[in-house]
Amino acid sequence: MRAAIFRGPRDIEVGERPDPAIQEPTDAIVRVVLACVCGSDLWYYRGESPHAAGSIGHEFIGVVEATGSAVSAVSPGDLVVAPFIYSDMTCPHCQHGSTISCKRGGSFGDGTIDGGQGQAVRVPLAGSTLVRIPGSGHSDQTLRSLLTLSDVMATGHHAAISAGVRRGDVVAVVGDGAVGLCAVLAARRLGADRVIALSRHPERQTVAKAFGATDIVATRGDEAIAAVMDLTGGIGADASLECVGTPQAMATAFAIARPGSTVGMVGVPHGDVPTAQTFFRNVGWRGGPAPARIYIPELLGDVLSGVINPGLVLDYETDLDHVADAYAAMDQRRAIKSLIRIGSL
Ligand SMILES: [Zn+2]
Repeated sequence: MRAAIFRGPRDIEVGERPDPAIQEPTDAIVRVVLACVCGSDLWYYRGESPHAAGSIGHEFIGVVEATGSAVSAVSPGDLVVAPFIYSDMTCPHCQHGSTISCKRGGSFGDGTIDGGQGQAVRVPLAGSTLVRIPGSGHSDQTLRSLLTLSDVMATGHHAAISAGVRRGDVVAVVGDGAVGLCAVLAARRLGADRVIALSRHPERQTVAKAFGATDIVATRGDEAIAAVMDLTGGIGADASLECVGTPQAMATAFAIARPGSTVGMVGVPHGDVPTAQTFFRNVGWRGGPAPARIYIPELLGDVLSGVINPGLVLDYETDLDHVADAYAAMDQRRAIKSLIRIGSL
C-alpha cells in the first residue's frame, strides 16, 4: 500500500509499506478515508522531537475492511473513527479514565505501527479502540468534523474538562492553533458564558468567533495578561486553558487564572509550571494527553446533529501524493490544520 513515510526532519514522502493483514484475533484492518496532520507531527517534521523513521500519522477515519475472530464491536463496512492511541479499556489505567496509559496500548504511526497517513491501518485492540459512526450519507463537512474527534477536538475538550469548565464560567484560551480553537468550541459547548481567545492571527480569530469566542485578545505576554485581567474586572478567568506548551504561554495561562481555579493544560510543556506563584493563589492544574477514546462517543452525537462543527479547523486540503505539502503548509503557518483525502466511502 501507499503511505506517508517519515525519513527525518523535513523529509517526508509517499512510499510503499506492507499491506496490513490481521495478525491477532483482536485486530481490524481499516481502509483510511480522511487523515490529517497533527501539531505534534510538526515537532517531528521540525526536528524538535524525535520520531522513528517509518510510518507516521495518528488521526484518521475510515471503513473497516476485515476483523479478527475476537472483534465483535465493529464489522466490515462500518465507518469508524480511531482515537490516536489504541487501548483495551479493561486495564486499571483505562478503567480509571487514562486510556493514554493503557497497559496494552500504543500509538498509531510511531514508525512501526501503521499510521493514519496511509491507505490502510492494522488497528490492534480494534473492538475497544474504534468507534462506529452510525448512519450513512454523511456530508463531507460532517466527515471532516468526525475526523477531528480522533485527536484535536478531543484534546480541546480535555483542556476544558481538566479545567472544570462549568455553565456560566468566564474561560480564557491561550493558543489559537487547531487545539486552542477546539478548546474554545468545547468551553462554549460546556456552557461557558464568555470565552476570551488569545489570538493574533485574523483568520484564526474568525474561526475562534465562529466557535463562540466572545472576546479576542490580540497581544501576547504581559500585554495579554493585562488585557484579560481588564476584561475580567481584575479577577482572572474561572478556567484558563493552555493549548501551546511554550514557557510564555504557560506563564500567561497561570497568570490569568483566577485564584482558586484550575488551569487545563494540553500543550506539551516545554517549561515548568510556576509552582510558587500558583501555590499562593491556590491555582492548580490538570491535563495531559486526552483520553480521546472516552470522549469520542459523547462528542460524536453533537457532530452528527450539527451542534458542533470542529472540522472548520481543517483549512488546507490535499491528497496522499502531496503529503509533504500538507506538512509544509502547517510549518509555514499557511494552514491551521491540513486534511489529507486518501479514500472514498
Ligand atoms: Zn488499558
